[in-house]
Amino acid sequence: MKADVLVVGSGLAGCTAAERLASRGLQVVVIEKRPHIGGNLYDGLDDNGVVIHRYGPHIFHTNEASVFHYLSRFTDWRPYEHRVLASVGGRLYPFPVNLDTLNGFFNLTLDEKEAEEFLRRKRTPLPEIRNSEDAVLARTGREICDAFFRGYTRKQWGMDLSELDAQVANRIPIRTNRDDRYFTDRFQFMPTSGFTRMIKSMLDHPRIEVIRNVDYLHERWKFKPRHIVFTGPIDAYYDFVFGRLPYRSTRFEFIHYPAVARHQAAAVINYPNDHAFTRVTEYKWLTAQQHAGTTIGLEYPGTEGEPCYPIPNSRNRLLYMKYAALASKERSVTFLGRLAEYRYYNMDQVVLRALAESDKIAALLR
Ligand SMILES: Cc1cc2nc3c(=O)[nH]c(=O)nc-3n(C[C@H](O)[C@H](O)[C@H](O)COP(=O)(O)OP(=O)(O)OC[C@H]3O[C@@H](n4cnc5c(N)ncnc54)[C@H](O)[C@@H]3O)c2cc1C
Repeated sequence: MKADVLVVGSGLAGCTAAERLASRGLQVVVIEKRPHIGGNLYDGLDDNGVVIHRYGPHIFHTNEASVFHYLSRFTDWRPYEHRVLASVGGRLYPFPVNLDTLNGFFNLTLDEKEAEEFLRRKRTPLPEIRNSEDAVLARTGREICDAFFRGYTRKQWGMDLSELDAQVANRIPIRTNRDDRYFTDRFQFMPTSGFTRMIKSMLDHPRIEVIRNVDYLHERWKFKPRHIVFTGPIDAYYDFVFGRLPYRSTRFEFIHYPAVARHQAAAVINYPNDHAFTRVTEYKWLTAQQHAGTTIGLEYPGTEGEPCYPIPNSRNRLLYMKYAALASKERSVTFLGRLAEYRYYNMDQVVLRALAESDKIAALLR
């Protein structure tokens, strides 16, 4: 099959690269091993006509105006600010932890200034932040750490907070004001007609051909492009020569309630300490869909299934570096996206990376 560029994977990384390269006059073929496009962004109707995100709730948020404007060519947006509650001891608290969480959990009536002082006294003084446990203890002290973080982490990652890189916990702010938004980015939106529609519109280009249900790694010999953009797992590309890169996976259980307009008090409720699932999403909060019923998604983390989250610790990073060293020698393959770079990327980061790499590839093939 002839193409200037073969893009392996139709997630946001692959589709951004495909769109940019086609718009520069290159002939692009996108192959996708799943029966649908969009990668983990894929959304669509369940059997009851409710829009769900098959691979977990996705919310677009960014501070990068360039990413927002780029994606705005392919979708209209609905403003959406995401809110999460945590169920602890049978009560619901805003999460990330904020002033209301502190007052509710400790049964206090602090104002913002008093809350700062309160946390200063609660914090565990540590000479060095070595891991996620230290990162939480140093900001909140032990009670908040154990009630809101430890159990969730054990379920989500299958390991204790102390075994995870500090950056994982540091991603979650601790607030002393009443801001209960999950994200604070400048741009927070949901695509009006969904992510799959947006992706479809990105691929709708006369120089892009999309082939689904093809696993590149089983049919490499069929393709002879000038350049490959590979967005699948980098260890699989190299036949696992150094061993497998570990991932956490997630099993989703969807439950439909036919005559319930709203099931829960927020889009997402975290269950740090109870149940085998980590969180429950009610999709109508994200999509603003009008429907007599509602569908929720429960997330059960585990090791089996599609790779979801790279597990960030030093051992895995060293293993990834071995693969990255092989990748750096490739002249006609670009490794792009969360699986190929073994990194947790938000959508906007993936788009930024893909825009930058597409410029390099276009210059190379000129
Ligand atoms: C549960 C969850 C929730 C998230 N929520 C958010 C959020 O709220 N906001 C946010 O900004 N980001 C969120 N993210 C991150 C977001 O999903 C990623 O940034 C984005 O999907 C990455 O796109 P990608 O193209 O790199 O990877 P993917 O979406 O995984 O796409 C890779 C594609 O390659 C295909 N593929 C792999 N191997 C092959 C092969 N050998 N042959 C052919 N095809 C192949 C796969 O089937 C897949 O379709 C979330 C991630 C998860 C896991």
